[in-house]
Amino acid sequence: MSSKTNIWSRLIDRTRHWQISTRLTIMYATVIALLLACTSIATVAGMYFVIYHQAEREMQISIANATKRMEDPEYMANAPNKVQNISEDILLPGVVLRVENSQGDIVYDNDRHFAPITELRKHIVDDTSLWATDKYKLVRFRHFMIYYHEIPLDYNGKHYTLCFSRVITAEREMFAQVQATILIGCVIGILLVIAIVYLGIKRAFRPIRSFISIAKSIEVSDLSARMEVPPSHDEMTELATTFNRMLDRLEDGFKQQIRFVSDASHELRTPVTVIKGYADMLSRWGQKDEAILQEGITAIQSETEDMQELIEKLLFLARADQNRQIVNKVALDLAEVVDDVYKKTKMTAEHHTVKLLRNDPGVILADKVIMKQLLRIFLENGMKYTPEGGTVSIDSHKLPGYMCVEISDTGIGIAKEDGEKIFQRFYRVDSSRTKAAGQPGGTGLGLSIARWIADNHDIGISLESELGKGTKFILMIPLLKEN
Ligand code: ADP
Repeated sequence: MSSKTNIWSRLIDRTRHWQISTRLTIMYATVIALLLACTSIATVAGMYFVIYHQAEREMQISIANATKRMEDPEYMANAPNKVQNISEDILLPGVVLRVENSQGDIVYDNDRHFAPITELRKHIVDDTSLWATDKYKLVRFRHFMIYYHEIPLDYNGKHYTLCFSRVITAEREMFAQVQATILIGCVIGILLVIAIVYLGIKRAFRPIRSFISIAKSIEVSDLSARMEVPPSHDEMTELATTFNRMLDRLEDGFKQQIRFVSDASHELRTPVTVIKGYADMLSRWGQKDEAILQEGITAIQSETEDMQELIEKLLFLARADQNRQIVNKVALDLAEVVDDVYKKTKMTAEHHTVKLLRNDPGVILADKVIMKQLLRIFLENGMKYTPEGGTVSIDSHKLPGYMCVEISDTGIGIAKEDGEKIFQRFYRVDSSRTKAAGQPGGTGLGLSIARWIADNHDIGISLESELGKGTKFILMIPLLKEN
């Protein structure tokens, strides 16, 4: 039992290594073979009943007719007068009847040319073929097949034997012919099905083979290969399009990653170079010259702060990219957040006027710390890109379903063509502008962090700006509920 299971499981295991096209072909061929077998069996059975069973029925009817008539005393009384017509009355065509008396003489015979009873009895065969009925004996005489049946009959105190015969050679040959034709038809049909299915499946799987070879050729260093999209509109087209789109996204992602790493290294190189320069200067002259010592320490402190800020931003984006940035959303009053950020900004703003024009209460679902960070990015940018003496203002008011927070400044403005680009990582409109204006140089990361926070809170950001006049960032923050 276990060895049988073993062989079976080994067989199944082996099929797992076959190509899908081979497996599908075998599956289809098996299904078609089963269907053909079923229809062939049904056809053969039908043929048997229509052609072959017909002979058996004719025999049966003739026997029934004859025995019924012979039990009729009136018919038997007149029988000798119409001996010649007996067959026309009771026997179906093809059925031969002979009546034998107890001495073995034939007293009635409706076909004198038919083989003698003694020969028939001699050639009775024991055939258990499927097609043969067991109701009658089977006689194989020369090249004939004959159904043979005897019925004893006692009449007027004498004993007779009714011997019925029916030649079935033609039926048998026809039946054998039909069986052979069906068998050949089935074999040809199955071979044709195998060929058609195999070629069809091979053709249908062609895109998959191209998919495999392209997938093999793809390297992290080269993601440019694309699958050929088949002209049909089926699953293969969908697979090719989806795979190509996935490659597009991966390629974009990798390019972005490479750009990000190179931009980040570039940004970090400047402060590290400056720090190294000052450290060299300090080691040479700092110990003796108090002024140089102070200048060096201040510069190193300032550069370290810038570098720390950059690293914090990079870490934030790295966490965001890996979905590791914790966002703890709770219901909170936006007015409190705005008020807090406004007060702290106002305190640190030495050269600008910071105004809070409106601060409507409104409950939103947000992470308090990240929400403050979002507002701070816009306020700090407002001051960074507004010349000294300018104004940065916050206007937070309620609209149906939203809190609308507008952060405006009277600064240098943003050109229309830069409107979307400023949200990209490391993008700065013109870094020299800010440096020249005596402001701290930016990293180009603030607004990309703002965009990520906004996306995570379903906040819409829009922008109105005019060069030389100022910029207004508008945040549409969904309200938790109408209040
Ligand atoms: P950065 O650290 O350079 O400020 P951001 O991502 O915050 O980086 O901003 C990207 C760029 O968008 C800035 O370099 C600046 O050119 C422009 N920008 C942002 N806010 C303003 C503003 N309020 N006024 C003018 N330009 C702005």
